[in-house]
Amino acid sequence: MTAFRTDWGSISFDDRMSTSEFRIHERAHIVVDGDACRGCSTQECVVACPARLFVPTSDGGVLFNYEQCFECGTCYLVCNTEGAISWNYPEGGHGIVFHQT
Ligand code: SF4
Ligand code: SF4
Repeated sequence: MTAFRTDWGSISFDDRMSTSEFRIHERAHIVVDGDACRGCSTQECVVACPARLFVPTSDGGVLFNYEQCFECGTCYLVCNTEGAISWNYPEGGHGIVFHQT
């Protein structure tokens, strides 16, 4: 029987990443519209993404890299700017694979 973990918050970022495998598709499953982001002063995605894939830039925008995405959907939920994030799951056989520790 599989034991479900309830203590993810205590796992370090490095440990979280080391137990994950990413089968990267050449086409991004999440696309962030830099123009839509330019007027966003709160940038919720930066603090909400557990994989730290949104990085603020000095000109007030964000850089985004889809490759190590956990597919949790948090960025899409917290973003209040319509059209800023286009979110899909990766194509079959691609994306994250979680390994038990
Ligand atoms: S993705 Fe959404 S929350 Fe993040 S900077 Fe762009 S508009 Fe703001
Ligand atoms: S789906 Fe989750 S891990 Fe992927 S970019 Fe959005 S918040 Fe980050």
